[in-house]
Amino acid sequence: MLSYYVVLRSVLRIKPWLRKCLARCRHCGIFFLTDRRNAGRQDLGCPFGCSRAHRQKQSTQRSVAYYQEPEGKVKKQALNARRRKKPQPAEPLPVPPGLRPFLRYLCVMIGLIEGRPVQLWEVIEMLERTARQHRMVRTRRIDQSVAWLHEQPP
Ligand SMILES: [Zn+2]
Repeated sequence: MLSYYVVLRSVLRIKPWLRKCLARCRHCGIFFLTDRRNAGRQDLGCPFGCSRAHRQKQSTQRSVAYYQEPEGKVKKQALNARRRKKPQPAEPLPVPPGLRPFLRYLCVMIGLIEGRPVQLWEVIEMLERTARQHRMVRTRRIDQSVAWLHEQPP
C-alpha cells in the first residue's frame, strides 16, 4: 500500500494537472485518481473493490426484497432452472481475481497519464513485458558472474 502512495505521489508530481482528478474513497478513505468527469465528487468509492462491494450489497438487498413477493418467487425458480442448464462462461483473462481491481485501476491511471483510453489487455501486456525485461537483466548478470569466475578462478 505504501508503494501505491509513492507511485501516486510521483505521478502527481510529473502530471500536476491530475491533482484535479484526485478523489477519496468514501468507504475506506484511500486516495485515488478518478475520471475528469468525476472530479470534485465526494461520494465516490475507490476502484479497489469498495464501490463494487457497495453496489453488490445494494443489488442483493433489492433482489431479496423482490424475490420475497409471490411474483418474484416464480421468476426466481425459472431463473435457477435456466442457471443450472447454462454453463458459466469462462473468464477470458488469465489474471487472479484478486488482482483484477488493481489492474482495472492501472488502466484508469495509465489512461489519465497518456490521455487516451487504455484496455485491460494492454496493461497486462505492459506488465508482462516489464517482467520479461527484469528476468533478462537478471540472467545477463548471472552470465557475467559466471564469465568472470571463468577468467578469475578463486
Ligand atoms: Zn475504498
